[in-house]
Amino acid sequence: MQIATVAEFAETVLTRIRDATIAPLSSKQLQRRFTRQEVAELVGRSRNYLAKIEPELIESGVLSEITEKGAARFEVRHVRELQDHFGTRPWRNSELDEALVLAVSSLKGGVAKTTLTTHVAQHLACKGYRVLIVDMDNQASATATFGIIPDLEVKEDDTVLPFFEGREESLNYAIQETYWPGLDLIPTNLTAFNIEWSLAAELMEGGTDTRDELLSLLKDGIDTVKDRYDVVIIDCPPNLGTTSMNIFRAADALLIPTPAKLLDFSSTVQYLRMVDRYSDELGLNEGYKFIKMATTLYEGRHYGDQPNQQMKIRGIMQKIFGGMMLDAPFYKTSEIENAAASMTTVLEDRRPQKKALDMISRFCMEVEAEILQTWPSKQKEAFEIKKSLKQYTDDTE
Ligand code: ADP
Ligand code: MG
Repeated sequence: MQIATVAEFAETVLTRIRDATIAPLSSKQLQRRFTRQEVAELVGRSRNYLAKIEPELIESGVLSEITEKGAARFEVRHVRELQDHFGTRPWRNSELDEALVLAVSSLKGGVAKTTLTTHVAQHLACKGYRVLIVDMDNQASATATFGIIPDLEVKEDDTVLPFFEGREESLNYAIQETYWPGLDLIPTNLTAFNIEWSLAAELMEGGTDTRDELLSLLKDGIDTVKDRYDVVIIDCPPNLGTTSMNIFRAADALLIPTPAKLLDFSSTVQYLRMVDRYSDELGLNEGYKFIKMATTLYEGRHYGDQPNQQMKIRGIMQKIFGGMMLDAPFYKTSEIENAAASMTTVLEDRRPQKKALDMISRFCMEVEAEILQTWPSKQKEAFEIKKSLKQYTDDTE
């Protein structure tokens, strides 16, 4: 049996599945809707005031037409239009604050890197920030989540590859708008695996200068576009190849997902050791603006008055890591699992289920506060979010 035959059949299957189940990018639309109360909170004006001036704002073209009926009829774009009008956009101050490049990184697959990437990015987009996702995992799950079928709709030249090969001066060409207002994407697919090979080969041949250049390619690329964004989030591959080395240099901050299970956690330990070992060569001496561990796929609970194994492991992690760990775990929920099965997320649901939304919001707000803390002009906002999170009780207490 030739692998080519299998590959050919597999492609046919993929096309059929795609035709049958998944809408192509052009037709995926954002279903999420907000009530006026929710809009009021996002925009920073009272509900009554908004109700009063809405007709006027639509009349004057400030607010686009609201096409739906019912209580939850406002879209993300309406939130953004109102923030623009009132000057309440949460954007960083371009004079004082630098766009933050956040890498969601781990040595392992299946620990929720992509899930955190997409949910944090969509949370920030809901709030009104300008966000870019750079999909650097050639499994391309983040790309697929945004309705783009990686191996059919992404060509090599749509990825970071042309920039890496020196055929483009800036990463602008690779940026695609998504159906989320304020959320852009640099997609990838399997062919981007070439990056690994060609970089590795060049690294072997080159001297120190070439090496330095090759490991800085992603950083240089992101530097050409990051001024347009508040946050750039990199979805990482589950290995420590040359792509990951580029990511470590490009990132200003790291989010490290780890389930509270012995095997997953030992791989996290191994990962941290390896990154540490290469940190000189990677030029990481200055350190990161923040490094946060996130407990993912979390199923901690009490049985009677006994904490289960995951809760115990998380308890130990919290004791040792202290402030390096996010307080809020990212719980395993059937809502996230079901959404993922149909290539979407909980935050894209028309009206996300309340319990799942609360969990995700709580987690993402903590990340948001960390991001805000890196911006000199947003210290007060960071503090306010942290204060508001204190009202939630910590499950491990
Ligand atoms: P990675 O990017 O690290 O490989 P993924 O984000 O793709 O991991 O997650 C691995 C699998 O676990 C996916 O099927 C995803 O839908 C599922 N998953 C991740 N987080 C949750 C969660 N909180 N609840 C339920 N399923 C989850
Ligand atoms: Mg992934």
